[in-house]
Formats: sequence, structure tokens, C-alpha cells
Amino acid sequence: MTSNKGWFDRAQVVIPGGVDSPVRSFRSVGGTPLTITRGEGAYVDDVEGTRYLDYVQSYGASLLGHAHPLVVGVLQQAATKGTTFGAPTPGEVVLAEAMTARVRGLEQVRFVSSGTEAVMSAVRLARGQTGRDKIIKFEGCYHGHSDALLVAGGSGVAQMGLPGSAGVTAGAVQDTFVAPYNEVPTLDETVAAVLVEPVAANMNLVAPREGFLVGLRQECDRVGALLIFDEVITGFRLALGGAEEYFHVTPDLWCFGKVIGGGLPVGAFGGSRAILASLAPEGPVYQAGTLSGNPLATAAGLAVLNNVKPDDLAILSERVTNFASELQGAIRDAGLFALTPSVGALMGLYLARDEVTAPTNFDEARVLCENGLYAPFFHAMLERGVALAPGAYEILFVSLAHTREDLERTVSIAAEAAKAVTK
Ligand SMILES: *Cc1c(COP(=O)(O)O)cnc(C)c1O
Repeated sequence: MTSNKGWFDRAQVVIPGGVDSPVRSFRSVGGTPLTITRGEGAYVDDVEGTRYLDYVQSYGASLLGHAHPLVVGVLQQAATKGTTFGAPTPGEVVLAEAMTARVRGLEQVRFVSSGTEAVMSAVRLARGQTGRDKIIKFEGCYHGHSDALLVAGGSGVAQMGLPGSAGVTAGAVQDTFVAPYNEVPTLDETVAAVLVEPVAANMNLVAPREGFLVGLRQECDRVGALLIFDEVITGFRLALGGAEEYFHVTPDLWCFGKVIGGGLPVGAFGGSRAILASLAPEGPVYQAGTLSGNPLATAAGLAVLNNVKPDDLAILSERVTNFASELQGAIRDAGLFALTPSVGALMGLYLARDEVTAPTNFDEARVLCENGLYAPFFHAMLERGVALAPGAYEILFVSLAHTREDLERTVSIAAEAAKAVTK
């Protein structure tokens, strides 16, 4: 049994839909998902032995590329010493020190095991801290799959065409209010927190408009609400100091995941000591986890942070900027219209038949993501050895392992793929 089809058929018997996360299913692009056996740097291999240049990179969890020797090394070392204890370990302390040293204003973090848990816990902390109930989120932003935040989400929620999810009670979302991205909502004193992706990266890519983030900061301050940056994607990728360094706006609470686990399951939330003091055991807001601060995960995360220098991200960002403009040009020359907005090392890809302007919110992004052009383009790229995410609402993740040659090759393949789509 060595075909993708064989493995996916077998998976569907014992795993619902054959996947452990819906975006992996190819539901929105059609066809059979690749079953991956291994990765190396910018590349992944499937069970059929075909190698693909990978722009999924575990949806941003991999910054150094797959199976980076330094990460593999620390994991091998760590594994021999035991994988979980249910007690404090040096690794979590050192990773927390590394994070707080890089992100200005971040004084303490608590580790959890996923981005979902990080945001869910930050929201609970914000409510506990303020004694208020209401949360504001933005349409098309994805904050994990906790009940209260699974409304008007991006990524898989948008891809499946769902407004939210069955199984979420009206009660669970009654204190969640949804606003359009890039518009500063008027708040009142009943709002506990405003939750935002500082660069929206789950409705394809939507950049924050000039003044949006600082406007949120001011409006939160005006009514005593907390500002939460969901940096699960932007953290340690946009800049080593995250969105604060990039945009010079400081939130009250941060949520992290993806990059800080070095490919292992991790999340973290944090803020000032004063706010984090509300968390148990010091304060009344309960939060816990058997595998939280896991020694393998914190070792991998630390290896990543220790091996990424500010220069690396500056170079990556420049590389992505050039790649974005070349990719856009090549697709346009081939007869399709493309937009490739980028912010730092983050990059989106919208396809269109006619000229359009970059989306500024979910409604605008959705029109482009639903125009039917992404699926044939995706398959045309895949046939030529380039794996994009199997959904139009995702961004392209360029890792530090993607070479200039990899990106140049992608541009010429994209030109062929675009020609194939316009035929
Ligand atoms: C991926 C993501 C999450 C959820 O993280 P998981 O580890 O998948 O639970 C939350 N917020 C943002 C912005 C994300 O991109």
C-alpha cells in the first residue's frame, strides 16, 4: 500500500474524513491529499516517493524548514531524558526567558499545547482580569477552534463554507461580537477584550490598514478593555519581537503557537506580570495542562529561537517581497491576474480574471477566494511539484530553508500553471 489514494482510503475508515484537521482534506480543491512520509528543509516526500517543494510548512509551525539538524539534535538529546514529568523543567524556563527577551512588553508567558488553547486561555484571563464578559473579534480572523471563538472564522471554517460550527451553543457565543477587519469598532465598558490577528493570515492575507492597530489600542484604553494580539502566525516570523516590533503597537496579552514549538505541539499566552498574576495558582483564573511546557516541545522551540537572528528574518522578508512581486508578474504575464500582498515574511496569493485591488477585509477576500481559480491553479502547481496549501484562504509559508533557486523555480512553474489554468 504505497499510493496516496490507498492510504487516504484506509484513513477514511478509521479517521473521520481521513484527516485530523479539516483543511488537510482537499475538500475545497478536490482530489486526494498527499500522505507525507518525511520532510527535509523546504521539501516533503509523499508515500509514492514524489518530492514536493512545500509552501504549507505545517501552516507556519516550521520556520527553519523540516527536520532541521539542530532541532533533530536537541530532540534526540531531550528524548533520552524523559518526555514529560508533571513538574517544572529547565527547558520551559529558558524558552520563556528567550521569548520575553525578544518581545517588548512581554514579561511572563504560560505554555500550553496548541494555539487554540493559548487563545482560549488568554480570553479567559482577560475576562477574569476585567470582570467583563464581552469579546470582540474580527470577521475572517481565525483563533483556534474553541467554542466562543468559532464564529466568523477564517481558514478551514471559511473553506468549508461554514458560518461557525454545529455543536456550539448560542450561550457559548453570546458574548462574542464580530466586527469587520480594518475598522476600529466603538467599544463600551462591557467589553473585556479585543482579539485580533495583527496581520490577518487566515483569510488569505489581509494587511492591517495604517492606523487600525493603533486605533484598537486607543479604543481599548478609552474603555479599559484589554487588547489581545493573536500572534500564533506572526510571532517570531514577522519580526523576532513580533507585531509589536513591526507595528509599534503593544497589546496587553499575546498568544503564540506554531513557530515556538519548532514543529512540536505548543502554544503560549502572556503579558505583563500584573495581568498574569490573575492566573492560578496566584490568582482566581484557572488554567492547566498535563503536557504544558513539555520538555521536547520547549527544547525544539528554543532551538528555533536560538538559531534565528534578526538578520535572518530581514533577509527572509526581503526574499519574500521579491518572490511575491516576481510570482505576481509571472502569473499576470501568463494571462491570469494575481495579487500577492506581503507583510514582512508573510505572503498571500489571490487569483482573478480581471484586475482587482488588495482585499482589506473578509468580504473582499472571500470574493477572490471563492472565484474558482485557486483549485485548478493549486492542482497545476502540485502536478509540477509545488505544494501550496489546499485552500484559497491560506497564505504561503516561505521557510528559512527555501533558497533563492527554490523561489525562482516556483515562479517559472507558476507561469506554466497559470497558462494551464487559462487554457
Ligand atoms: C493556527 C492558528 C491558531 C490555532 O492554533 P492551533 O495550534 O491550530 O490550535 C490560532 N490563531 C491563529 C492566528 C492561527 O493561525
